[in-house]
Amino acid sequence: MITVSHLTKTYQNADGSSLTVLKDINCEIHRGEVISIIGPSGTGKSTFLRALNLLDPPTGGSILVDGEDILAKGYPVHKLRQKMGMVFQSFNLFEHMTVLENVMYAPVKIRQQSKAEAREEALALLKQVGLVEKANVYPSSLSGGQKQRVAIARALAMKPEAILFDEPTSALDPTMVGEVLSVIRQLAKSGLTMLIVTHEMRFARDVSTRIFFMNEGVIYEDGTPEQIFEHPVHSATKAFVQRIQKLVYEIGSDDFDYLQIHTGINQFCIKYNIAEKAEPAYSLVKEMLFTHMRSFRPLTLRLTHTELSGVTALDFMVEHLDHSPLTDETSKALRPQVKELIEEPTKRGFRVKLII
Ligand code: ADP
Ligand code: MG
Repeated sequence: MITVSHLTKTYQNADGSSLTVLKDINCEIHRGEVISIIGPSGTGKSTFLRALNLLDPPTGGSILVDGEDILAKGYPVHKLRQKMGMVFQSFNLFEHMTVLENVMYAPVKIRQQSKAEAREEALALLKQVGLVEKANVYPSSLSGGQKQRVAIARALAMKPEAILFDEPTSALDPTMVGEVLSVIRQLAKSGLTMLIVTHEMRFARDVSTRIFFMNEGVIYEDGTPEQIFEHPVHSATKAFVQRIQKLVYEIGSDDFDYLQIHTGINQFCIKYNIAEKAEPAYSLVKEMLFTHMRSFRPLTLRLTHTELSGVTALDFMVEHLDHSPLTDETSKALRPQVKELIEEPTKRGFRVKLII
């Protein structure tokens, strides 16, 4: 459906310098594929999507859509816009129109559909994204997650052959990420061609037929989710997909701010989609800091989460210690509360690791 060859994009800065963001992008996208584009920020993912949709024309290379060169002079942009919808991080809804009017707008204006028909289809789409009861309200009264679901319905209203999503959940409060991802999951099953720039690794792994790992302006590695996430060829890919999220507190003396730690853990767990682990995490932290490891200061507390494997761990590290701070009874009491308890010496001291 889409063939991209030697695509490049160079921005000219006002001071005369230039920045080449897309260096040499080559790929084929087939009908019905669901491709997640992952990679560090600033590597050209958004620029690539904007080039595909002609929102920001590339400086070199070619893009064929259904065999037609969309970069050729005189290619009708409106034709491409009908084939390819786009959903942005920031929703971009028309604030002065109701939800229903937002979804009906393009079909009536651009596809010249009758209002009655457009209305009926818009209501069906709103039902599909779970928002039919919000049809007559204005976007300002919706939550971020609801706005993004309206934006998806609006993109679908044009009956596109493909939809490009640019970090559709990045601007959302963590509690609303799930509702948007579940709408996208449904669409993925429907056979629509989709390109999704996302930081949600587990979602990308579950939903995609293929993954592009973009790095430094090229598609650095391309493969099935299994290849990219389980057996990446390049070390940069591996480092990116196996990234570990961390939250660290240095506990110096006994007047540390427990409430701050509690709040920090809570926010961390919501952010990385492990809200169910927040309660066990802070109750274990409390138990360890105030009881079992009360006399071990200074202590470093670290909460880590490996998104891909789903492993969450609490580390309690004490320097210059050559034995476990836990007594046999304490270890025994802790074990039933965790998936795994590891007591191990480190280079600089001793660590108790609780896998939760
Ligand atoms: P990503 O989506 O992977 O985070 P982007 O495609 O947004 O990356 O940006 C890649 C690089 O291009 C960044 O260094 C960014 O600053 C630069 N860039 C993006 N848009 C413009 C622009 N309009 N003018 C100049 N530089 C830009
Ligand atoms: Mg981007």
